[in-house]
Amino acid sequence: MLLVEKELYPFVHPLKPIMAGNELPSQIEGNGIYLKDNTGKICIDGISGLWNVSLGYRHPEIIKAITNQLHQLPFVNLVDNTNPTTLKYAKRLLELLPASLNKVVYTCTGSESVEVAIKLARKYYALRGNREKKEIVSFASSYHGTYYGSMSASGIDRSISEDYGPKVPGFIFIPVPFSNNRASGCSIEEHILNLEVLFEESGDRLAGFMMEPILGSAGVIPVPEKYMQKAKALCEEYDVLLILDEVATGFGRTGIMFAHEQYKVIPDILCLSKGINSGYLPLGATVLSNRIYEAFASTNSHIEHLSTQNGNPIACAAAIATLDVIKNESLLSKVELNGNLLKALINEALGKHKNFHEVRGQGMMIGVSLVKSKSTYECLNMGQIMQITHKLWKNGLLVYPFYTESLTAGFHIIPPFVITPDEISKIVQIIRRVLDRTVF
Ligand code: PMP
Repeated sequence: MLLVEKELYPFVHPLKPIMAGNELPSQIEGNGIYLKDNTGKICIDGISGLWNVSLGYRHPEIIKAITNQLHQLPFVNLVDNTNPTTLKYAKRLLELLPASLNKVVYTCTGSESVEVAIKLARKYYALRGNREKKEIVSFASSYHGTYYGSMSASGIDRSISEDYGPKVPGFIFIPVPFSNNRASGCSIEEHILNLEVLFEESGDRLAGFMMEPILGSAGVIPVPEKYMQKAKALCEEYDVLLILDEVATGFGRTGIMFAHEQYKVIPDILCLSKGINSGYLPLGATVLSNRIYEAFASTNSHIEHLSTQNGNPIACAAAIATLDVIKNESLLSKVELNGNLLKALINEALGKHKNFHEVRGQGMMIGVSLVKSKSTYECLNMGQIMQITHKLWKNGLLVYPFYTESLTAGFHIIPPFVITPDEISKIVQIIRRVLDRTVF
């Protein structure tokens, strides 16, 4: 048996083989959009930490808010108490949302926000005396997290998570409505027809339809507007809750505060985390709508959900500061403009490249899709994508690979909102330099 020496490498890296560690860069300092590792290498953080450090590193306003709260009160037991900061943030959050979304459940992570959504949806129907409605519809390539419920709700890499079975039962997976999805060969209209059939046949068993408005991990795939609107109409017709997972898209990532705004669709449950406090401390939220509130209130019911640090006042102070900075620095319009610039420059730089398929997404949530040939649209394989992202890192740009078998492959560019147009040009120069020398 292999006995690992303790001092060799002491902790496990997420989503990496268990031996990994020593070879990984050790990041020691961040400033704005830049990260410096222990060898002195400075990189543009083109993925904002893990899509969460939206305001960049060392933002003075967030540091100030955290420090102030730290001096007042670092923790409060929310089972029996409240406190002004946790209360203030929930109010600020609700002010940004449609009137029907009127109560916040605090969480610590995106996965946990999704857990709460699943629990709420099932209990909502149980409280109304309907114990048949338990199933939740989700996309085949969706990513909702790694806790048992959120892992079970995720369609992506399902073969891996099978090893952890039995999973939480009651999820139905449907294809992503992606117009150039050659795998299923379906048009958006066909996807909509299939959805109608599903609701017609199974509506009385469905508690929720959970989706990311823009599928992030799958490769920045926006749900088409007419599909989203049809999904909302079907949810209303068949009494099913629309659960939007805006863990990645929330808090300005796409140039608007929440991605659902542009669809003119209001969810019944909204899952949030990542950019909520710019990733400085663990925090998330699940926001529920009045109809759910009413079902619990009229039966004097609890939401049995508690994790000790939920709604931590320091994390909430950072979240309040994040909202202030987004407003005071007019970041939403900057994110929109810079996103358009990034897409235009990538199209210009890579348009003629043999492997370039398209650049997708909006605001500071961009995906560059790469193919073997433009006539077949067959995706590059994982190894090829990893070669590219490794070279980009060597050249000073951190991006994140995506590979969703037979759907799409490429890399994410999800930079901090505080990026400047000059830094965007710098990103594109690096991408051009690497891809000019890398053709498959
Ligand atoms: N939902 C979505 C859409 C996500 O992108 C993620 C994280 N990538 C999660 C849920 C899980 O969030 P966390 O990693 O904070 O648990």
